[in-house]
Amino acid sequence: MILDSFRLDDRVAIVTGGNRGLGQAGAIALAEAGADVALLDRTEPAETLARVQALGRRAFWVPCDLSGATAADLAAAVGSVVDGLGRLDILVNNAGIIRRADALDYPTSDWDEVLTVNLDAVFHLCQAAGRVMVAQGSGKIINIASMLSFQGGIRVPAYAAAKHAVVGLTKALANEWAGAGVNVNAIAPGYMATDNTQALRSDPDRARSIVERIPAGRWGTPEELMGVVVFLASDAARYMHAAVVPVDGGWLAR
Ligand code: NDP
Repeated sequence: MILDSFRLDDRVAIVTGGNRGLGQAGAIALAEAGADVALLDRTEPAETLARVQALGRRAFWVPCDLSGATAADLAAAVGSVVDGLGRLDILVNNAGIIRRADALDYPTSDWDEVLTVNLDAVFHLCQAAGRVMVAQGSGKIINIASMLSFQGGIRVPAYAAAKHAVVGLTKALANEWAGAGVNVNAIAPGYMATDNTQALRSDPDRARSIVERIPAGRWGTPEELMGVVVFLASDAARYMHAAVVPVDGGWLAR
């Protein structure tokens, strides 16, 4: 049955930034499909843990601030998940930050923080998870990219640079690990209604001009990304490598 191949029963997933927004929705969706979930978060994701556990799945928090974590810290975090939950099948690199400023005045500290969280941590977690997955001959890595993986945006040079790089990284790792049974893919969300876009949504003129340009005519919800997350995490997507799937209400096609 094709629908059986979408199930994630007894798989173990890591989700970064599962405290709220897309990461919280992702952790819950993976658990609904049958996975146990480890949440790499700087803040205790109490609500997410409770909601995953209410689904009858195991869940635990690995305290981790991605802006200060070294490659060794992230390898240790992945190791603690394998120790705690017995295996690792899925990694969702979701956590991300955005800092807005004119490029001429863009603070070096913002550049460094955005690149560290949105790119360096993604690579180091892929590397640590990849070591486990390549050795076991299976695994799914899903990197949350952005429509700004393809466009420059305005006043977000570090974010756009990091998200472009996440696509390149996804393709590079997919090429290396496809033959070992590891699928590395990315999702490029459009404008989703999360805290990340709160500032845009609370500015009426800006919000109106954005929505007018979205072919679907509205913001996306976190739940609307989750079918693709579960699909890419599942055996239904076993022949997909290096894909970057837009979920953007048609934004990129416009
Ligand atoms: P939110 O701002 O709503 O949530 C971000 C999550 O990342 C939070 O759980 C936050 O933790 C966590 N996080 C941030 N910094 C760190 C850190 N240093 N260490 C550990 N965790 C951290 O973002 P979204 O859910 O909207 O975005 C999720 C992903 O989707 C990001 O990669 C973003 O770039 C991408 N995206 C989002 C779009 C949108 O429209 N929303 C569009 C395109 C891409 P805490 O709660 O502790 O702050």
